[in-house]
Amino acid sequence: MSFSLYVHIPWCQSKCPYCDFNSHAASSWPEAEYTKALISELAHRADSAPYSGERIKTIFFGGGTPSLFDPKSIGAIIDAANRLCGIDDDAEITLEANPGTVDSTKLAGMRAAGVNRISFGAQSFNPATLKFLGRIHSADETRAAAKMAHGAGFDRLNLDLIFAVPGQTVADVLFDIESVTALEPDHISAYNLTFEEGTAFFMDLKRGKIKQLPTDEQAAMYQAVREEIPRRGYPMYEISNYAAVGHEARHNLTYWRGETYLGIGAGAHSFARVEDGGRRWWNEKLPARYIAAIQEQSIAEAGAETIDDATAQSEYVFLNLRLRTGFALADFHARFGRNFECIFGAIATPLLNNGLLTVDRGRVFLTDRGLEMADSVFAEFV
Ligand code: SF4
Repeated sequence: MSFSLYVHIPWCQSKCPYCDFNSHAASSWPEAEYTKALISELAHRADSAPYSGERIKTIFFGGGTPSLFDPKSIGAIIDAANRLCGIDDDAEITLEANPGTVDSTKLAGMRAAGVNRISFGAQSFNPATLKFLGRIHSADETRAAAKMAHGAGFDRLNLDLIFAVPGQTVADVLFDIESVTALEPDHISAYNLTFEEGTAFFMDLKRGKIKQLPTDEQAAMYQAVREEIPRRGYPMYEISNYAAVGHEARHNLTYWRGETYLGIGAGAHSFARVEDGGRRWWNEKLPARYIAAIQEQSIAEAGAETIDDATAQSEYVFLNLRLRTGFALADFHARFGRNFECIFGAIATPLLNNGLLTVDRGRVFLTDRGLEMADSVFAEFV
């Protein structure tokens, strides 16, 4: 059973006001020390269950802004992963990048280092929206970055969009979709803007400095996104994700399917399936504390939880329901040894009756209405 590897790079040039990731604005960072710590952590985990003897099927460099790192550092981590665990020949190796931090030399270096998929945070092509979101790049820089990525040999290119930004209209969202598809990515992620606690936007909202769009406008934008991106050749396969057929993000599918993954780096989370349940743990969030912990004891766990059977069943349902095709009743039974209906019948029946869930050819998935109210549906299964 191969596993997915997530590598967290926690620095950014500046902090976007909506971002609640473990990212720290910095003009310099201890790249050599941090890279060494990542490799030490991987070496330690590669020797222990459930990772020892298993190969890596996907790697995802996320952050933060991994494209701030030198391709040599990224290459050293990929080489170490191959030496310590072995990487599948057809592995998907993704690097998140900010369009304002790349040039053709850096992109060619990343490709030569073994990265075969780039994910740019485009977010919007409207200058006012980019400014509101605190992005450090312009729309033209995104266009240039996508062109340079193709030129560097990246056939696999994801572009992220954000919609439901205060001041945006459905026409603005359609313009962003037209702009993003013109760059010929093979994958598009489109996220509804959220105002998470701890972010600058959350404070601005509380103080009345900004206002969320009304719910019906947000729903209209999500509907426009769900209709227009597939119409342009990218079927929807997850609540926020669209891809040319066969180009779905394999790394993220690991999360949605509740499979085993290893996260290394500051604040990274890991999950290991153990029989019907599993174990989840997470690392020290602050980069300095992470590095110190690894130097002292080769691990940097800040917390852990055991996932019992009941929790694993709930997580399986609400994670898989994010996927457009949901999950097969037979797969649920194969994994947990019990029927979905026996465990969740009382919860699922009203959702089915109210047209939020449906069952077709042995698969359970959200209806169009269910997609719009996905958070409420998921909450029923928690
Ligand atoms: S660039 Fe990405 S990770 Fe960094 S602050 Fe902005 S949204 Fe967060």
